[in-house]
Amino acid sequence: MINIERNPWREMVNHAQAAYPNECCGAMIGSVDGDNKTVTCALALDNVSQGSQRARYELRPEDLLRADREARAQKLDLIGIYHSHPDCGAYFSETDLKNSCPWYSFVVLSIQNGKFDHANSWLPNAEQTQAEKEELTWPES
Ligand SMILES: [Zn+2]
Repeated sequence: MINIERNPWREMVNHAQAAYPNECCGAMIGSVDGDNKTVTCALALDNVSQGSQRARYELRPEDLLRADREARAQKLDLIGIYHSHPDCGAYFSETDLKNSCPWYSFVVLSIQNGKFDHANSWLPNAEQTQAEKEELTWPES
């Protein structure tokens, strides 16, 4: 399961709402204890998708490497990637699956009419053919 602490959660929601009606994306950093992941830091990254960003996001690989280095410098792990779905549910799309990495948690935030609505975390399998829902908790308000 994955638990997101108050500060990173607030940053993720603010980032997703500010990017609306476009998708936003970022990295989640924290600690891992067996299957329990705790996100202690969120790092907003640029969506560099060339076409419309309303239903697409793309990270720069070097940004992800930088996030990984930053995490390790703090003796933490890069736990996963978050992105938003403007006016769409927090499901894991075919494109999301195709662009995923099986060793990360993928948190999707659904933003409806500019406001946070709900979120899910997804764990893609190694073949990137399906993603399993991961238990996700975040602080209320
Ligand atoms: Zn998506």
